[in-house]
Amino acid sequence: MKYVLVTGGVVSGLGKGVTASSIGVLLKACGLRVTSIKIDPYLNTDAGTMSPFEHGEVFVLDDGGEVDLDLGNYERFLDIKLTRDNNITTGKIYQHVIAKERKGDYLGKTVQVVPHVTDAIQDWIERVAVIPVDGEEDPADVCVIELGGTIGDIESAPFIEALGQFSYRVGPGNFCLVHVSLVPVLNVVGEQKTKPTQHSVKGLRGLGLTPDILACRSTKPLEDNVKEKLAQFCHVPLEYIFTLYDVPNIWRIPLLLKDQKAHLAISKVLNLASILNEPSLGEWTSRAELCDNLHVPVRIAVVGKYTGLSDAYLSVLKALLHASVACRKKLVVDWVPACDLEKETEKENPDAYKAAWKLLKGVDGILVPGGFGDRGVEGKILAAKYARENKIPFLGICLGMQIAVIEFARSVLSLQDANSTEFNPETKHPCIIFMPEGSKTHMGGTMRLGSRKSIFNVKDSKSAKLYENKSFVDERHRHRYEVNPDMVERLEKAGLSFAAKDETGKRMEIIELPNHPFFIGAQFHPEFKSRPGKASPLFLGLIAASCGELDTVLNPASAHQHSISNGPTNIFINGTSKKSPNGLADVRYNNGYCNGLYTR
Ligand code: GLN
Repeated sequence: MKYVLVTGGVVSGLGKGVTASSIGVLLKACGLRVTSIKIDPYLNTDAGTMSPFEHGEVFVLDDGGEVDLDLGNYERFLDIKLTRDNNITTGKIYQHVIAKERKGDYLGKTVQVVPHVTDAIQDWIERVAVIPVDGEEDPADVCVIELGGTIGDIESAPFIEALGQFSYRVGPGNFCLVHVSLVPVLNVVGEQKTKPTQHSVKGLRGLGLTPDILACRSTKPLEDNVKEKLAQFCHVPLEYIFTLYDVPNIWRIPLLLKDQKAHLAISKVLNLASILNEPSLGEWTSRAELCDNLHVPVRIAVVGKYTGLSDAYLSVLKALLHASVACRKKLVVDWVPACDLEKETEKENPDAYKAAWKLLKGVDGILVPGGFGDRGVEGKILAAKYARENKIPFLGICLGMQIAVIEFARSVLSLQDANSTEFNPETKHPCIIFMPEGSKTHMGGTMRLGSRKSIFNVKDSKSAKLYENKSFVDERHRHRYEVNPDMVERLEKAGLSFAAKDETGKRMEIIELPNHPFFIGAQFHPEFKSRPGKASPLFLGLIAASCGELDTVLNPASAHQHSISNGPTNIFINGTSKKSPNGLADVRYNNGYCNGLYTR
């Protein structure tokens, strides 16, 4: 097993995660099997109890692991499935060491950071690195390890020490350290400044780690003399210094690395030259080149609680993007703060109220994502009502599905008081209730989490068609509340269709309104399994419906005969892609909604 460690210096937010994923993509393109580990040096056991406001979304894995959103990057870029153990936190390591201490495993010894914690970290990495990914039987060839935070952070000290020891444990030729740093440009003189990188490399060396490769973030490619200076002061050979300069979209990062021959540098450090193929990045190249050519917009409102931080809905955003690209539309996301749609806001802040409704009324489709807590719930209900009554394509995810059911019960069944017991435990009409699989008293890791089966039971439903008429799908869950099974019959009689249920038939997984162009809610989170080039079916449905092209998607036979919109490439439909007549890949990517580089 070979290891590539990616560390970050100077400032946070440099895009270490994207750089690490891109290195993985490049190595995979050279024919290697790649896995990855993300180290988060915080004390939380996992990301599950952390606020999306602070840390961005909580990504959910098949095994129910609630992990850092960078794991989502790895899964999407490398098209692999990871496990909860691929995300190491200080909390997990200490929990493990303390449990061993209680068992008596260290009997007689003083348990210390060095060697007990540092050994535990190294053992963890070695154990997880060999877990096969991608349905393979054999372990990966290379494990990319990303160390969260910035060099010099107090809390990462045990990890730095452990990784320093680890480089000796695995030996030369098996460990490559890529340090991602910043080369700022001072506006006045326009000069690329190397000092911050020099300091950060010095810090790294002081902690016992020697960088093999420097990946420098900067606005433009590094000048030759700047590279020379870095080589001289950081003791890193010129051909091992790369620039990750600003590019219009993140799909270009693996290509940037390839163009600068990063794979050759890594292969030299890791003694891989004999087994490395020329990187084949055809699909990535087409995607990156085509990405800027999407012009016809599709406007989607995301009505949520954390709209101030797009990272809070990162996977939703990516899934919308994958689907828009598949439909060859330029994605435009309008973030609508759910509480601004509420009557209260009309009184307190009429401008915000007007602005929110104006946004909502201007879109082609509405998405209400998952969420917790009652803030903005009434606003989300109003958004679902607007979509239902005005026949606007609607996708509700988890909480988004629950509020759609509440809205239906209130408006169609005239149960004014209908609610979720999460928001009103006393409601007379609890249409959403607490249905735990886990503990009723503990918050961490106690939800219905991870991959569960949804079995389709309604013929001709749009969702079943979108999922290629499979009898069931495995999607990822993260919730405690669900549709009250005792109210299902009433809701059904009033016209709400429950298109998929779990294996027991008690848990409702997908709702649909038959007499609507596209109104679907899912108790699961389809966004976590969406991939570039393999858009999630429900997102594809929402986008296609929003541009008036749902029929073409639901009826692949006709779609195969004609492209969904004018132009040379074909739409990606239901997990199969078609090459375009001019040989371009089927996928286009655009970053229309987010400016600049490295918006993850
Ligand atoms: N708060 C709701 C529940 O726990 C929805 C959760 C979610 O949207 N992820 O069931």
